[in-house]
Amino acid sequence: MVKIPVRNLFRVKTKEMLLGFKTDSVVVFEDNIELALSHREIIMLRYVLEALRSLPELPIVSKYVLRNYYSNGIYVSKSINKCFESMITDMVKDQNINRDKRRIVVDMYRDMYTSINLIYNEVLYELLDYATTLSILDFTEIQSDPDLLASIEKVKKEMTKESIDKSYEVLDYIIKNKPEYANNTIARAYISGTVNPNQVRQMLAVRGFVTEIDSRIFKYPIATSFTLGLYNIYDLAIESRSGAKALFLSNKAIQEAEYFAREMQLITMVVRSIVQGDCGSTETINWLVRDASMAGKSDIPNLVGSYYLNEETGKFEAITLNHTHLEGKVIKLRTALSCKYKDKDKVCTTCYGELSYGVHDHTGLGHSSSTNMTAKVSQSILSTKHLVGSASSGSIVLTDTAKKFFMVKNKDSYAFRANILGGKMKIKLLVDQKSGFGIKDIKPGDDVRKLNPLRVSRVSMFAIVTEDIKGNVEYYPITVKTADRYGAFTYEFLEYISNKGYTLDDNDRYVIDLDDWKSGVSFITLPQVEFNFLALSKAIKSEFKYMEQDSKGIPLETPESLLQKVFDLINSKLDVNIALLAVTIYAFTVADPENGDYSLGRFSKKARLARIEDIISHRSLGAGYAWEKVMDRILSPISFESKHPVSHPLDVMVKPNEVILNKYKTFKW
Ligand SMILES: [Zn+2]
Repeated sequence: MVKIPVRNLFRVKTKEMLLGFKTDSVVVFEDNIELALSHREIIMLRYVLEALRSLPELPIVSKYVLRNYYSNGIYVSKSINKCFESMITDMVKDQNINRDKRRIVVDMYRDMYTSINLIYNEVLYELLDYATTLSILDFTEIQSDPDLLASIEKVKKEMTKESIDKSYEVLDYIIKNKPEYANNTIARAYISGTVNPNQVRQMLAVRGFVTEIDSRIFKYPIATSFTLGLYNIYDLAIESRSGAKALFLSNKAIQEAEYFAREMQLITMVVRSIVQGDCGSTETINWLVRDASMAGKSDIPNLVGSYYLNEETGKFEAITLNHTHLEGKVIKLRTALSCKYKDKDKVCTTCYGELSYGVHDHTGLGHSSSTNMTAKVSQSILSTKHLVGSASSGSIVLTDTAKKFFMVKNKDSYAFRANILGGKMKIKLLVDQKSGFGIKDIKPGDDVRKLNPLRVSRVSMFAIVTEDIKGNVEYYPITVKTADRYGAFTYEFLEYISNKGYTLDDNDRYVIDLDDWKSGVSFITLPQVEFNFLALSKAIKSEFKYMEQDSKGIPLETPESLLQKVFDLINSKLDVNIALLAVTIYAFTVADPENGDYSLGRFSKKARLARIEDIISHRSLGAGYAWEKVMDRILSPISFESKHPVSHPLDVMVKPNEVILNKYKTFKW
């Protein structure tokens, strides 16, 4: 076979390759690897290489062959993106490139855009003859599989979550393993990940449990697939109710979510841009990197790009997907919250992290950070019906043992009933190390309000130990976990632990003496983490809108604890990088609200968080006027009250004369 040096491919135009290149060949890459590639692979390689046109310094290595980015052996829509990602990463890391890398990124992005356009304009149109569509026969071929039909029959008999899950497993197994479906279009789409597996399950296995508009789950599941058809009045009726949910979500819910998005944009727009370089900040935040057992999934993918202090080298190092050894550890993290750059409306690239390679110098940093988050929330509300398969849920139901001691407070918390504590019986709480993984880090006098309770404990069960005057000891285990919800100790109880301390028993479990704990106060709460994107959207908004305050109106939340809370909340269901969230939270810090200074909190000893309404009303006149309560704002003296309004370009356009005169103290009657 002919050996082609990879760089020689540049000599032929893409379209000429596409139409004329018909021979499988060996390509010699610049990492000295020779690969035998099919002619199709070489043609696609030629298109992908277009992205490196302005960067002759970067070696063209064998990993840029697209087959490395297939999903389950099939080319998918993400394959090219992943290949480009690996090129950018190599460019950033390559020590031999002496040009300004941030400048190169701009050229690369342009060339990648060109590459994709060429593929779209040339390849797609040449391939129309080979395009394939779905046919009902593809569905019926799989649907009539005897194993699958048997599993559906079983759902009909048992009507349980277990039998539904089993039918999904059977479907997955036959699609992936039975040779007769190897060329079935649906099977290929399912395996490659180009279609949402939940939709295939509903089409071919069973529809499963569905919910009423108010998220209540109907008692019996729909034990048939859309291909087999819904053929009794019960199935039709409840599916219709569930369909109404989608209608509701695409109107009312989207309005609410998008309104929240607008408020976020008005607030975060003051964080104007990114600045190249290192502000030299030595401040970090302590971050517990959770693994799958603590959070359901690892934190690492959403921390990628941020700098943390590598204790061994003493240097800041960017987190990559390979940093899984950080899981379970508390690391010192640089974020926008601790940036010290002199202009407080800017964040340096070191504090922001390596995601800055994707941020243009002129990008409105705050605006783009908050929209990244809110766009994902809105989109997931719209897709709810497609994302959610069979519904599942759980709420606190006290077992008989639990009823002896507790009552349910606010539907989601455990509190002791009256007259249980403080009597002659000694009562202790016992919880294992795994459930209370963060308790060991709480020192007496710590400000527990800086912690997110969910990062201290993840309680699946605990036990109450009682000892009467005669020394008889009784042991009552209580299970907290319901479905995928775990309990967490409340702030009040963490404060109690911090003051009261704990001991360890022979099995290394925490023993907490409840002598001074009060009845009626929640000590374990089950967070609302049900799979419901509207609820998620509302929960996120309420973090920014209603911040819990002390008697003087000062939020109890700190920027660090709010960052943890919002990170955990959003990433329980979506994926938003910490760099974006940190910028968003930074925009919620204010310098000195008592004295009317609502500008960003950096460099101020009196800095604290403020709520959506307070910031929009007091910070930028431009934002204030663009907000909902226009009449209140414009016609009320409150617009002119603020002593240090942030200078925003828009403000000049709306700032009345009086304000300017007032600022320069030349106002005389
Ligand atoms: Zn900085």
